[in-house]
Order: sequence, then structure tokens, then C-alpha cells
Amino acid sequence: MLGKMMDTQLTINSLIEFAVKFHGSTEIVTRSVEGPIHRYTYADSYKRIGKLAHALAGLGVGEGDRVATLAWNTNRHFELYFAVSGMGAICHTINPRLFADQIAYILNHAGDKVIFVDLTFVPVLEALVDRLPVGARVVIMTDAEHMPETQIPGALAFEDIIGAEAEDYPWPALDENTASSLCYSSGTTGNPKGVLYSHRSTVLHSWATCAADGLAVSARDAVLPVVPMFHVNAWGLPYACAMAGAKLIFPGAGMDGKSVAELLADEGATMSAGVPTIWAMLLAHLKEAGVQLPKLERVIVGGSAVPQSMIEAFENDVGAECIHAWGMTEMSPLGTVARIKNSMTGAAPSETIQYRVKQGRPVYGVDMKIAGDGGKPLDHDGDAFGELCVRGPWITGGYFEDDDADKGAFDDDGYLRTGDVSTIDAEGFMQIVDRAKDVIKSGGEWISSIELENLAVGHADVAEAAVIGIEHDKWGERPLLVIVPAKGKAPAPDDILALFDGKVAKMCIPDAVEFVDELPHTATGKILKTKLREDFKGYSLPG
Ligand code: ADP
Repeated sequence: MLGKMMDTQLTINSLIEFAVKFHGSTEIVTRSVEGPIHRYTYADSYKRIGKLAHALAGLGVGEGDRVATLAWNTNRHFELYFAVSGMGAICHTINPRLFADQIAYILNHAGDKVIFVDLTFVPVLEALVDRLPVGARVVIMTDAEHMPETQIPGALAFEDIIGAEAEDYPWPALDENTASSLCYSSGTTGNPKGVLYSHRSTVLHSWATCAADGLAVSARDAVLPVVPMFHVNAWGLPYACAMAGAKLIFPGAGMDGKSVAELLADEGATMSAGVPTIWAMLLAHLKEAGVQLPKLERVIVGGSAVPQSMIEAFENDVGAECIHAWGMTEMSPLGTVARIKNSMTGAAPSETIQYRVKQGRPVYGVDMKIAGDGGKPLDHDGDAFGELCVRGPWITGGYFEDDDADKGAFDDDGYLRTGDVSTIDAEGFMQIVDRAKDVIKSGGEWISSIELENLAVGHADVAEAAVIGIEHDKWGERPLLVIVPAKGKAPAPDDILALFDGKVAKMCIPDAVEFVDELPHTATGKILKTKLREDFKGYSLPG
């Protein structure tokens, strides 16, 4: 027997329509790429979303077509999210920091029909002008006054194409399983792989994001997503904010500590989200400039592991809760959030921090297991570690037009293999030991590079740290610690190594410390270990 409830489709249109109807006067504020602060409301945005959909239709975009963006977090990008998906087309965000060859591959693999590009990234596209998909039109995200001279043939201005269009668009009634957006994960090897989200997966993911044990986005919040809209849809925050009716604050191209701090303060942000490298910059700036952020309640940090020292800096110096979360492009991205449970609420901070430094507990909708040899599920005892495997309604079931990428990506029970090695404890907290390919195998034991890095950045004179395995005759591999010193500091190697005493097993302590001016990073801000291993290939460890 079937239930008698309405079969309402979970669509992205319904998110923005809800925001307009019940939170129409709530603000969306942008530091525009052109410079000035742009300010309007959800109600205003919807009028421009309608105009944009008409303009897209005029450019020949129909259901299922892909529309690319190379763009910062701005109101125009927000409008694209809703106009493109709302009309049944697919909003394809591209990370402009990828290599030119990767961007060319992604544009052609997706077969983008129209490419929207911010002023900052016009040169990126100009360098690829001969390699754009055949017939693709380019729209520069600005007005006629700011249009640059460009070699891109037939480039249009965003404001010009929408200017004369009507605000009302006849939004189609979409099936909730219709594809809505596309994001390529920046694999460090091989071609990028496309993850194709649906309206349904996006709405369900937004609910999890708004849930109290998710990111708790609500109508009381003013949210500044520092995480770019080209990185897993800014972790889905533009959708979740529309669902909650939260104020949105977009930083545009101003991603440095000073610009972000200014915007957080001026717009009264209650919540922000981004990767640890961005927060390290912000924390340094806040300290230097003595900026206060009294309204900031919480900061979500993910993408790479959060060191305990960063959680403490936020709480002691800024007065904001620092919440560790984990996810991946394939998961829309939210998987786990490190929030304590009722049974822990009375415990001392020194006890709860043991849980809060972990990647966290799964939100409902994400099922996970750790798999040992032969795929056997391992105990949730906080010690056993294996490959983390996940499944759920906002987790990809296969890559976009890429059968090769699907091979080996799933286990026999249909779980996605994350490539992360982790533990799960008795309270359900997952902790990542390492990326499977980064873990250091020494004399039959596994050494977690993440654990060592997090301890090393606890040293006041260390700005950034990476640990890689160096080939070793006897042990197979031994850890080398590579350090970027804090500005103007020259810490002593022994002083740094002393940090590990009593905190990790003796065999885990790095054999040597090297200092560099900077570490290589991926396009999404993670340390690029493949490059670092190349840089230190043949390195000889002491004695
Ligand atoms: P990319 O496009 O660089 O692959 P993703 O965001 O999809 O970007 O990367 C997902 C991976 O990032 C995860 O599988 C995990 O290895 C790493 N990651 C994400 N969040 C965390 C975290 N909180 N701690 C440690 N690693 C993380």
C-alpha cells in the first residue's frame, strides 16, 4: 500500500521560490569583482534570475545543456546557479586555478554550450581560445562599461544579455531526478572526473546542511562562504541559505585575510566556511590588525584536516566556534561534522577536543563503513583503520560520461570508495588517518602524515607543514617533515621535533626536518604531495 502524501518534487526552483516568498527582503551582499559592494535581496535576485533564464534560452540553451562558469562568489554567479538549473540545464562550475590543459579537457568533456567568465579569469579563457567547445558562446560577467578588450570572438556582457529580458520565466515542472549541476573533482593524477548532481540530491543535501548537527544554517544567520562556488558549489551553501532564508555575503575576488575580515565585520557574518589555508591567513590578519568579529559565532573548516591549534585560536582569539567537517566533491560534499553529543556536554574542553579534532560524525543520509582486507567491515573502536566507503542519496553513483573512472570506484555493495584511510570510534566519530596514497608505510606500520602535520603547526614559528615518506633501505619508508616557517621566524629542527615527544609513538617521529619558502598546493588548497615527493626524490635521510 502506498502512502497518501503529495508527490512534490524536490527541485532547486523550489528553494529560491521559498526564499523569495518567505524571506524576500533578506539581503544578498557581494563585494563585486569590479570593486563596489553590491546589495540586493532574494526578491530582487529572482527577477534577475528570470531575465537570465530568458537570455540563456535566447543563446540556445535548452534542457540538459551544460553552461560553464569560471567565476568568484558573487550575486551574478548565484543567479546562474538558479537560472541554469531552474530551466532544466546544468550549471557546470569550473575551478579557474586548474591547469589550462585540465580546463580545456573539462570544457570539452562537458561540451559546454555557453561559458560565463569573471573579469579576473578572462585571460584564462583567452589562453584556451582555440580549444573551446565548438560553437560555445562566451559571456563576461560584467556590464558594458567594464567590458575588456578581448580576443574571445563574439564575447557578450552579462548585463547586456539580460537587460531587455522579462523578469517572469515560465519555469518548467522538472522531475526531481533531473541533472542540475556538474563539478569535476581535481584528481591529482589522470583526467578530472565529473560529478553530476541532481535537483533531488541538492535539496536533500541542503536539508542536511541546515540540520542542527549539520552546519545548522538558519534564518538567523548571515553566511559568508569563503569556499569558492567553483569548489563543490561552495559546499552547497548558496542552496542551503536559500532553503533557510539566511543572509548571504559573497566575497568576490577579495579572498585575502584583510578583505575577508572586513566583509565579515561590516556585514555581521555569523557563520563562515572554508579550507584551513584561508583561515590561517585570516587568523594572522586578525591578530596583526587587531580586528574584532563579535557577531561571528562559528566557522566551518574542511577540505583538509584542521589542526587543534586552529580550533583553539578561533575560540580563544576570535570567540568563534571552529567546527571541523569532512566531505568530497563526490558527496556534494557534506559527509561528517565534528559536533559533540549530549553525553559529552558536561565534559571539560580538554576532553571534548579529542572528538572535535576528528573529521566528525556522519549526518543522516550518509552511511559509512571502514573496509579492511578483502572489503571486510572493521570495528568502530577508534583504532582499526581501513578505507572509508560511503553511500547515500547525495553521493555519486557513477561519474559523468566516464566509464573508466567508474572502474574500481565502488565496492561490491555499491559503496563509493573514498580513497581516505580512517577510523570510526564507538561514538561514531570518523577520523582520517591519511589519503591512501599519502600514508607512510614504515617497517610494516602505518604512519599518519596528517597527525604529524597537525602537531607541527602547533609550533608558534611554523606557518605550514607537510610530511612525506622518503624511501629507506631498512624500513621501506621514513617520514620527512617539510616546514614553511612563520614570517620572519627560523625555528630550530630539534625544537620542532620535540613537539612529537610523548604525543606519537617513537617510530612515527620524522627522521629529519627541511625548511622551504612555500609548499605546492592543489587547485582546491590542499598540499600537493605528489609534487613534494618529486621535489624530495632521492633525499638522503640522516644516519
Ligand atoms: P578535490 O577536488 O581536491 O578532490 P575534494 O573536496 O573533493 O576536492 O577533496 C576531497 C578529499 O579532501 C577527501 O577525500 C579528503 O581526502 C580530503 N578532505 C576533505 N575534508 C577533509 C578534512 N576535514 N580532513 C582531512 N581531509 C579532508
